[in-house]
Parts: sequence; C-alpha cells; structure tokens
Amino acid sequence: RAKAEGRRCYHFYTSEMDAALQERMELDQAMRQALERNEFHLVYQPRVDLVSGCVLSLEALVRWRHPQWGMISPGRFIPLAEETGFILALGPRILRQACEQIRAWKARGIPTVPVAVNLSAREFQQPDIIERILAALNNTGLDACDLEIEITESAAMSSVEQTIRILTDLNGHGVRVSIDDFGTAYSSLNYLKRLPVHAIKIDQSFVSDMKVDPANHPEDAAIIRAIIGLGETLGMKVIAEGIENTVQRDFLLDHGCLQGQGYLFSRPVPAEAVEQLLVNAKTPDTGNT
Ligand code: C2E
Ligand code: MG
Ligand code: MG
Ligand code: MG
Repeated sequence: RAKAEGRRCYHFYTSEMDAALQERMELDQAMRQALERNEFHLVYQPRVDLVSGCVLSLEALVRWRHPQWGMISPGRFIPLAEETGFILALGPRILRQACEQIRAWKARGIPTVPVAVNLSAREFQQPDIIERILAALNNTGLDACDLEIEITESAAMSSVEQTIRILTDLNGHGVRVSIDDFGTAYSSLNYLKRLPVHAIKIDQSFVSDMKVDPANHPEDAAIIRAIIGLGETLGMKVIAEGIENTVQRDFLLDHGCLQGQGYLFSRPVPAEAVEQLLVNAKTPDTGNT
C-alpha cells in the first residue's frame, strides 16, 4: 500500500515538474522570438539626491511586452535568461539600446545624466566584457561617464579576483560601477575594500520594512546603518533602493544615506516620460536647484 501511494506521489510530482519544465521551455522560446520581434524595451528610474530631489542618474530596467501574455516582469525572465544563456543575446541589446537613448537625448540637447545598466553575472563573466562596454560607448560616440554599470553583490563576489580585475579595468576607462542588492550576499569586507566601486546600493528588502515605523525593525535599521557606515569608511557612495514614502526617506537621511531611488520619487518610466523629467526637473547641471 505504501508502495502504491509512493508511486502515486511520485507520479504527481513528475507531472508537476513536467508542467514547470514545459513553462520554462515555452518562456525560453518566447524570449528568443521576442528579441527578433523587438518586444523588449527599456524604462528608466531616476536616482535622486534625497535632500534636494535632484536627478543624479537613471537606471535602465528592461521590460518585455508579449503580444498575448502582456507584461512579463524581469524578475521572471532574467533569471531564466541567465540560466539558459539567452542573456548573452539580450544583454548586448540592452546595453546598445541604453547607449542609443543617451545619444538621442544628447543630440536633442536634453540635459542628460549618466544611465546605469544592469549586467547579470553571466554577462559580467564574459571574457570580452570590457571590450563590449567600450565598443557600445564608441559606437554611439558617448563618454565613459555617460554610462554606469550595476552588478549584484552575489555576482561580484562569486569570483572575486576576476571581479577586481574587471572593475579596476573599467574604472581605468572611467566607467563607474555600483554594487546592486547590497546586503543580500556575503561580501568579504576584505575583498570589498579592494573593489574600485563607485557606489553600493542597499537592497530594497531592508528599506521596505522601514515603511511605517523603523523602530519596529531594529535589525533592518541596524543593517542599513552598518551599510552606510561601510560606504563612508570605504569611500563609496551609498544609494538606497525601494523608497516608497517619506518615513523611509527621512530614516535614511537621518543616518547619512544621501541618495536613493523609489516610487516616492518616480517609478521606472518610458524614455519619453523621463525626458520630461530631465527637462523640467532639477538636475545638478541646470543650476536651478
Ligand atoms: P534591481 O536592479 O535591483 O532593480 C530594482 C527593482 O526595484 C526594479 O524592479 C524596480 O522597478 C524596483 N523598484 C524601484 N523602486 C521601487 C519601489 O519604491 N518599491 C518597489 N517595491 N520596487 C521598486 P524590476 O524592474 O522589476 O527589475 C527587477 C530586477 O531584474 C532588477 O533588480 C535586476 O536585477 C533585474 N533587471 C532588470 N532590468 C535588467 C536588465 O536590463 N538587465 C539585467 N541583467 N537585469 C535586469
Ligand atoms: Mg539595479
Ligand atoms: Mg537592487
Ligand atoms: Mg534586485
């Protein structure tokens, strides 16, 4: 009886696995088609000075609008793309699209700020990643300071010596790199101090608990304070992610975090909308701060 039950369980299990596998395969195939059909586009979220509200830079975030399924979030397809290697086809398109957008803004005299592009671990580990980034800049006639790169803490720490080499190289070329989702992996502080990193981004999971009363979340508050202290000690800027209200902003400001992103300031928006923001809103260059 136990055996029969076991077998039934096993059966149930495999058909569930089949369904999951089937879905992944479907998604994978749809992604490959989507690239040809130009279903991917970028939206941009401002990073602001928490005191003045000035837009300091933009983060480019990929969006996929499938003709039947509608919007598919990067949280669903980027990890799969990373696993299957499809990211190696998609990543360069994202980089090029971001660079072309900056060039278009510049050509029209829009006051631009640097644009940060997320690189997945797999892209970052490509042996020719430096050449690719420099080529993307070259092909669009941009300066190194027009583009920034974000890599996650776990990607940065997965092969540290290589990361140090790549970041040092990028830094030498004038391309700034930030460490994304900071606090979610286990950074060796000993390595972190050797990374020529412009900024660390406090993962939004720590910030999201500060929404109502930071005093109710002493652990998250302590982690945030520790990251801010670390940034100060190592000479890295600290950027908070996922700021949705003024309680969170004020907590961060009180503890010395001066830059951030979040729905409080702006959701990620299409290029045309961010353009309005750049023209109207205060950017450090326009002098009307
Ligand atoms: P990330 O780079 O850490 O991006 C931050 C995510 O937080 C974005 O989600 C953004 O829309 C969201 N966000 C911003 N402000 C708020 C807020 O106030 N509240 C909340 N709840 N969320 C906020 P998104 O666009 O869904 O991207 C998710 C992740 O997918 C990114 O995390 C990044 O790891 C990855 N990703 C997105 N675009 C790209 C890309 O072009 N290339 C690569 N390799 N990865 C990407
Ligand atoms: Mg990011
Ligand atoms: Mg993040
Ligand atoms: Mg993230």
